[in-house]
Amino acid sequence: MQRQFTPYFETAPAHQKLQSPIKLACWLGIAVACALVAPAARGQAPAANPPANAKPSFVIIMADDLGYGDLACYGHPTIRTPEFDRMAAEGMRLTQFYSGAPVCTPSRAALMTGRYPARSGLCGQRRVLFPDSTGGLPDSEITLAEALAPAGYRSICIGKWHLGYQPKYLPTNHGFAHYFGIPYSNDMGAETAGGRIRGWPKTPLIRDLAVIEEDPDQALLTRRYTEEAVAFLREAAAGQQPFLLYLPHTMPHVPIFASDKFKDQSPRGLYGDVVTELDWSTGEILRTLRETGLANRTLVFFTSDNGPWLAQRLRGGSAGLLREGKGSTWEGGVRVPGIAWWPDHVPAGRVNPAIVSSMDLFSTCVALAGAALPSDRPIDGLDVSPVLLRDEPGPRQTLFFYRDTAVTAVRHGPWKAHFQTQAGYGQPKPDLHDTPLLYHLDHDPSEKLDLAAQHPEVVTQLQQLATEHAASFQPAPSQLDEPK
Ligand code: MG
Repeated sequence: MQRQFTPYFETAPAHQKLQSPIKLACWLGIAVACALVAPAARGQAPAANPPANAKPSFVIIMADDLGYGDLACYGHPTIRTPEFDRMAAEGMRLTQFYSGAPVCTPSRAALMTGRYPARSGLCGQRRVLFPDSTGGLPDSEITLAEALAPAGYRSICIGKWHLGYQPKYLPTNHGFAHYFGIPYSNDMGAETAGGRIRGWPKTPLIRDLAVIEEDPDQALLTRRYTEEAVAFLREAAAGQQPFLLYLPHTMPHVPIFASDKFKDQSPRGLYGDVVTELDWSTGEILRTLRETGLANRTLVFFTSDNGPWLAQRLRGGSAGLLREGKGSTWEGGVRVPGIAWWPDHVPAGRVNPAIVSSMDLFSTCVALAGAALPSDRPIDGLDVSPVLLRDEPGPRQTLFFYRDTAVTAVRHGPWKAHFQTQAGYGQPKPDLHDTPLLYHLDHDPSEKLDLAAQHPEVVTQLQQLATEHAASFQPAPSQLDEPK
């Protein structure tokens, strides 16, 4: 059945959609803070220099389906990434950074809310939101943009949102002042897939709430997103208001495209071209921050939403030495690149093995902003600023891994126990492990040698952690599973 898009331009403005007291408080906070800290917004000339105690701004750049092994600074032998390499040399490269989930939608929900996706209902048997899904990130959830707003932040989202395409779920109704991008994956268009006609609409390119193009040229998306981001940064530099720029790229999710300038350049083929264009894009953003004087008051973090889509063979990426890829809770599905950059604040040239989750970015940004974490709900993210700013060991010892609402594995210190394992694609049913598999990830990051028989006490401890975690809350109803 052909679904019609809601005419976005007829929808109510963002502020009319905010109903909860918490969100109302957020927006009142914005108003007060803007009045205090944003003279440029009131038509006054910006001050030449920010106050010494200026709040840091945040840029979160996220690739889609980029694997742990896809950047030169993470060991890829033929993909050239000089800008990512320079970012890592000037900042910190995390070697045990985890996405919030092994697939797009729940991963983004974790990042945006600082919570396991089972708490918000952004997980399910369908695994991600599709163009026929009517669910999305509930209004009751507090996004990073909304958490930062009371501290005076202005937030913008450019790229792939994938937390609901209907107007009430789009970024401008979740605390972002503006949105530009494709709201879900770039393989969810109207064209046939594997000979099957899906009846989905043409891929929309959205600005704020309005569809401004259908089926945009995907070879130009990385460049267009970058131009939007650079323009926003130049505008932000003219004022003093701290900001969050959230830039979740559409690439290198299959189908992959590179613009003419980057096409046929990489020895890795088209996938390498696409990653090299993302490298260029990140370089443009860092260059703009340097040129505008924003660099030493802006924390930039680069990562990926999940591991490589191995089923796509050469069109997909590489998890390097890690096992499996996207869709799986083996390490290759969830451990991804994580690079932090903030001149004069993040020490240069460090490589830190702390266990860090994308959920921790939520709590860390909130802490650095001097904002308050939501106090009426569990927040799973931890403040990892001691890692990023002082190269210290991380506060996180334990991390749970989910497929749908099932806890499939847990990491605690160097140990990881798997209760069920499943390839990301092509394995319909999971292998259930009555005796969990146990790996020592410091010794065996590739998860090759099961040590459960040698360390039954560790298995028992990790089983107990997972049981207690699963019993601590009831997963929210899935937003993914009902095409309505
Ligand atoms: Mg993805």
